[in-house]
Amino acid sequence: MLEIRCPWCGPRAEIEFVYGGEGGLARPLNTEELTDEQWGDYLFMRSNPKGLHHEQWRHASGCGRWFNALRHTVTYAFQGTWKIGEAPPTMVAELNK
Ligand SMILES: [Zn+2]
Repeated sequence: MLEIRCPWCGPRAEIEFVYGGEGGLARPLNTEELTDEQWGDYLFMRSNPKGLHHEQWRHASGCGRWFNALRHTVTYAFQGTWKIGEAPPTMVAELNK
């Protein structure tokens, strides 16, 4: 069984968590100035990489809190987790460029 480390509770079984999509996406502030294509890109287009992926997860059967994670999409191995609002590990900043 896969083990995921909640930043508040520590390591827990995978079944306690739910996936929340790609992490690091900021809602545009100027939505009235966006074209339909730009708005559609924000809503629907995701990176879907083969390799390291910045994701959001929720400890649904535990503390209920959301957090960020860096996971490898081929091996499923989590490289790290961190709280919302905390600075991400350096490797995540490189992924989001
Ligand atoms: Zn937790």
